[in-house]
Amino acid sequence: MAAANHPREASRPKARVIFLGPPGAGKGTQAARLAEHLRIPRISTGDMLREHIAQGDVLGKAAAPYMAKGGLVPDHLLIEMIRKRISEPDCAHGYILDGFPRTLPQAEGLDEMIGGTADVIVFDMEVPHDELMRRLSGRGRDDDKAEAVRKRLQEYEQRTTPLLEYYRERSRFHRIDGFRPAEAVFAQLTSLIEGWE
Ligand code: AMP
Repeated sequence: MAAANHPREASRPKARVIFLGPPGAGKGTQAARLAEHLRIPRISTGDMLREHIAQGDVLGKAAAPYMAKGGLVPDHLLIEMIRKRISEPDCAHGYILDGFPRTLPQAEGLDEMIGGTADVIVFDMEVPHDELMRRLSGRGRDDDKAEAVRKRLQEYEQRTTPLLEYYRERSRFHRIDGFRPAEAVFAQLTSLIEGWE
C-alpha cells in the first residue's frame, strides 16, 4: 500500500509553518530542511515566481519587473498563486511557507483561506544587518545587486515587519536567532515543533 494511503498517514497532524525574517536570514535553508524532516512541501514564493519567469508565462511577465528591482510583486498575484498551491494534494498534511506572506493584505488573504492562524507555527528568523549584507552580496542572484538588495531590505522593513506583531498576537510565534550555525538553528526549530505537537 502506498505510504500516503496508510491509515496512520491519514491521521498525521497538519503542520503549517510560516518563516518570516529579512532576505538573507537563512529562511530558505531552514525551510527546506524542515520540510524534509516533516515530510511536507516547502512553498517558496520566490522560487515559484522565478519558475514563472523562466517559463515566460503571464504571471512571470507581470512579476519580473518588480523582482528585478527588489520590489514586492502585487498582493493579488501572490494571494491567488498561494491559494492554488495550498489546495494541491501534497499539502494535505501541511506545508511550509517560505517568503509568504510578506504584507498585511497577504496575511489577511491567508487567514481567509485557512480560517485563521491560531495553530500555525511562525518562525521569525533574525540576523544582524551587517551579516545580512555580507550574506546577500555573496549569493550572485540577479536581485542580489547592491541597489536591489537595499530595496529588498527596505521593503522588508516597511511592509513585512508589521507582520511580526500580527502573528505574535495570532499564532504560535517564535523569534529565532539566525546568527548561529545552521545545525543549531535547525535543532531549535525541530524541538519547538515537537513541543507543539
Ligand atoms: P525570495 O526568493 O523569497 O527572496 O523572493 C524574491 C523576490 O520575489 C522578492 O524580492 C519579490 O520581488 C518576489 N516575492 C517573493 N515572495 C513575494 C511575496 N510574498 N510578495 C511579493 N513579492 C514576493
